[in-house]
Amino acid sequence: MPEIHGTGIGQGVAQGPVARMAAGLAPPSEAPSTRTPDEEKASVAEAVAAVAAELNARGERAGGSARDVLEAQAMMAEDPTLEETVHARIDQGATGEHAVHTAFAEFAEQLVALGGYLGERAADLADVAQRVIAHLRGVAAPGVPEPGHPFVLVATDLAPADTALLDLDQVLAVVTTEGGPTSHTAILAREKGIVAVVGTGQADLADGQAVIVDAENGLVIADPTDAQLADAAARAADRAAVANAPITPGALADGTAVPLLANLGSPEGAAEAIALGAEGVGLFRTEFLFLSSEEAPSVESQKSSYRQMLEAFAGRKVVVRALDAGADKPLPFLTDADEENPALGRRGIRALQHRENVLRDQLTALAQADAETDADLWVMAPMVATVDETEYFTALAKELGLKTVGVMVEVPSSAVLAEEILRTADFASIGTNDLVQYTMAADRLLGSVAHLQSPWHPAALRLIKMVADGGAANGKPVGVCGEAAADPLLAVVLVGLGVQSLSMSPSALADVRAELLTRTLDDAKRIAEAALRTANADAAKTAARGAA
Ligand code: PEP
Ligand code: MG
Repeated sequence: MPEIHGTGIGQGVAQGPVARMAAGLAPPSEAPSTRTPDEEKASVAEAVAAVAAELNARGERAGGSARDVLEAQAMMAEDPTLEETVHARIDQGATGEHAVHTAFAEFAEQLVALGGYLGERAADLADVAQRVIAHLRGVAAPGVPEPGHPFVLVATDLAPADTALLDLDQVLAVVTTEGGPTSHTAILAREKGIVAVVGTGQADLADGQAVIVDAENGLVIADPTDAQLADAAARAADRAAVANAPITPGALADGTAVPLLANLGSPEGAAEAIALGAEGVGLFRTEFLFLSSEEAPSVESQKSSYRQMLEAFAGRKVVVRALDAGADKPLPFLTDADEENPALGRRGIRALQHRENVLRDQLTALAQADAETDADLWVMAPMVATVDETEYFTALAKELGLKTVGVMVEVPSSAVLAEEILRTADFASIGTNDLVQYTMAADRLLGSVAHLQSPWHPAALRLIKMVADGGAANGKPVGVCGEAAADPLLAVVLVGLGVQSLSMSPSALADVRAELLTRTLDDAKRIAEAALRTANADAAKTAARGAA
C-alpha cells in the first residue's frame, strides 16, 4: 500500500482505478512514405472521420459550451481546405502523419496571424492534429483519457482546455504531480467539488491500478487494503450526508453567527452560490471579468456586471474587490509586463493608484450600480501594504459615493499595522492565499514550495490574530476570504482567533457549515489557542485536532 503525499484540495475521499493522461506525441518522421499516395490518403480519411465522430460524441455527452467547442473542433478536422493541403503533401511523397502535422501547423500559423478569436482557435487545431496523428499511429490521443468507465485521473497538471472538458460523471478524483494549492487544477477542483490531491511529485501509478484519493489528508494510497477501502467508503458516505444536510445560516453550536459568504469571479456563479447557501458575497474578484481585455473597461460595461451581481444578492452583503491586477493576474491596461518580479511589483492597489483613472471609473461604476440596486455593497482595495494606501483608497471611494470601504490584508505589513489601518478602513478582509505566500516567501503557484504554503502555519495564524485584534480595538469587522476559510477545522480556528465572517468557494460551504455547528465559541477559542502555540503547520493542525 504505497502512500503518495501531496496537497489535498477540499475534504473529499474517493476510490477507483487510475487512468493516466497520455503524454504528447513525438513529432512524425520526415522520411518519405513507403506506401502509395492513395493508401496514405485513405488512412488519413479514416483517421479524420474517426476523430470527428469521437469529438462530436464527446460534445454530445458534455453538453453546454463544451459541446460547441468540440463540435467546432470536429468541423476543423474535416475542413476541405485542410484536406486539399494534406493531399498535396502526400502527392509530394509525405507520409499521412507528416502531411497532417505540417498542414495543420501551417493553418494554425495563419489563424495566429489573424489574431483575436481565430488566433485563439490555433490551440484547438493543434489538438485535432494530435488526435488524428495518434489515430494513424494506433496510440491513445494525448489529453484526458477515456477508458470507458469512471476513473481517477493522474496527470502532470491539467491545462485549462482539459479541465473545461472534464466529464464529472467519469472523473472520480484528480491527482497531479505538479501544481500547488492555488494552481489551475486546484481552483477547478474546488469550484466543481472534485476530490483532488495536487503536487505529489513523482507518482508511480499505472493505468488500472486501484487507488484511494484522500484530499482531507493530502494522500494517495495505491493498492489499498479492504479495510482502507471500507474506511474510505464510509467517509465518502459521511460527506454525502453533510452535502445533503439542511442549509442554515452559518453559526456555531452556541448560536454565535458566522456568516458564510461566497467567493465569485462573475455574476454567472451567483445562482449556484445562493443554492448552496451563500449568505452574500465575501469576495467578488472583479479582475476576472477583464483578464482578456486589452483596454480598460468602460464605466457602462462594468456597471452592468456589477448590477447583475448586486441584483442577484438583493438584501444581502456583497464585498467587491477593486481590480487586483499583477503577477498571476496581469491586466494589460493596468500592469507593466516588463517587471522582473511582478509578485513584488506594482500590483493591486499600487497599480490602481498609478492609473487612477481606471480606479475612478471602477468606483464610479460601482457607485452607480449600487444606487440602482438593493444589496449592501462593500468595496475593498487589494494588496494594501500601508496606512497611506488605506487612506488614499477610502478617501477616493467615499468621494465617489461608496459607503462601506475597506481593505484586503494580504501583505504582512498590513497585518502588523492592522490596528492603525482599521482606524481608517471600515473593515478588513484577510486574503490568506497571498498572506501566506508573502509571509513564507513561497510562490503560491509553485509546487516545489507547496509545503510552505499552508495557512495552518502559526506564522500566518499569528498575523491573522493581529488583524482580528486590530478590528476588535476599533470595533470594525474582520473576515477571511482566502481559501483557508474553506478548510472546516481551520475555519473554526479562524473564528477562535476573532474572525467574524468566512468567504470561500461555494462548493466548500456545506463542509464548513457542518463543522461550525459542532463547536461553541469557547471551543473555537481553545482550538485556536492550541494551534497558535505551535512551531509549524503540521503541529498546528495536530494541536487543533487534539483540542477539538
Ligand atoms: C487571497 O490572496 O487570499 C485572495 C483571496 O485573493 P486572490 O486569491 O484573488 O489573490
Ligand atoms: Mg490575493
